[in-house]
Amino acid sequence: MDIKSVDVGSAAERAGICAGDTIVSVNGEKLTDYVDYIYFCAQKKLSFRILRGRENLKLRCKNDEYEDLGLTFTQPLLGKKHICGNRCIFCFVDQLPRGMRKSLYLKDEDWRYSLVMGNYVTLSTITKDEISRIIRRKASPLYISVHTANEAQRRFMLGNKNAIPIRPLLKKLARRGICFHTQAVVCPGFNDGEYLFKTYSFLKRLYPAALSLAVVPVGLTGHRQGLCSLEPVTPQMALDTIKEVEKWQQECLNSMGTRFVFAADEYYLRAGLDLPPAESYEGFAQLENGVGLVAKFVDEAQEAFLTCGAGRAHVSVVTGQDAFPFINALAERAKLECGARVYVYAADNQTFGGGVGVCGLLGGRDILRAVSGKTLGDKLLIPASALREDNVFLDDMTLEELGMALNVPVLPAADGYAFVRNLCGESQGNTD
Ligand code: SF4
Repeated sequence: MDIKSVDVGSAAERAGICAGDTIVSVNGEKLTDYVDYIYFCAQKKLSFRILRGRENLKLRCKNDEYEDLGLTFTQPLLGKKHICGNRCIFCFVDQLPRGMRKSLYLKDEDWRYSLVMGNYVTLSTITKDEISRIIRRKASPLYISVHTANEAQRRFMLGNKNAIPIRPLLKKLARRGICFHTQAVVCPGFNDGEYLFKTYSFLKRLYPAALSLAVVPVGLTGHRQGLCSLEPVTPQMALDTIKEVEKWQQECLNSMGTRFVFAADEYYLRAGLDLPPAESYEGFAQLENGVGLVAKFVDEAQEAFLTCGAGRAHVSVVTGQDAFPFINALAERAKLECGARVYVYAADNQTFGGGVGVCGLLGGRDILRAVSGKTLGDKLLIPASALREDNVFLDDMTLEELGMALNVPVLPAADGYAFVRNLCGESQGNTD
């Protein structure tokens, strides 16, 4: 690995490493990617083999545990993602409409990204060498899609008859000190009911290596032509699942001191039930999976209301169909307590169709359709989760294009604090 730069005052600088050097090894081992890098950052004593021109150097330094070594490399530390070898019956990528940006069609399955970014992986095609590397590098926690602990059913759901059995693999990882969050994407008739109970029971036995289980309803878009026939989770099914999950939570709380298993927000929204309070999500470890998002947002908003001013803002808000009742309730409070004039609109998701109601999957054009010709006030608040990192919506419309089309500033609200601040004017205290 070639060094591009070395941070001033860093462990690498103390060792005498310079830009332009090549790292041959660290503590006798090769440094190949980011996983190695963070592993070495956690070591207290470091011995580098360095190539500098024709010189072969051995440099040493001490490092505060988990302090970044301070190195930047000329090549990316996490190269191309590995591609998955499955054909899951519920795969969201297979249900994308045509013509979206290329990167969205990528079916990645790379445990390194699971470690670094929290991406879910099935580990269905992982090699023995990679398993050894996970263990050697203490790559933990990982995010593992179990779906069902019934091996035959899992192979069917993954569309991969050669999928590596998950039960022995998870047991091995647990024995070797690797922790993991897990998920089951529930497809009615395939892995719910007794299957789900057995999955929960199996994973619970792996606690504390198994840190949590998210129960997530299958997402179905309007683009399923030619795919396996799947039923959506109905309100009654959602109600039944919540009942089961909450019973299991109580069991786990009594025996393990954690709820361990969590139902995704969508279950509560579909069942028309209130979301559990924020504290019952125990730190929101499965937030990216839509578990606790609403509770966290509402909790932040309520905290922000305690310190917000009476700004009398004139604002509009657009959200997805699912979150509309919660957003609307917060808007009503802003009207009452802060004298704000607020208009809340729910956008239909025509980008994906099929009744997709979550705000994170709204396209820019969905938002445009929902608010065109409506009263917008001085600004339009949109869910930040609908934007990718480069301020582009899933349908490739940019934030700027949306603002220009509406002729009003469009502001993404990243959390409940920002949301209330924009509804009611600046807060008087620091809520971030
Ligand atoms: S693992 Fe399954 S759901 Fe994930 S990308 Fe591959 S086929 Fe799709």
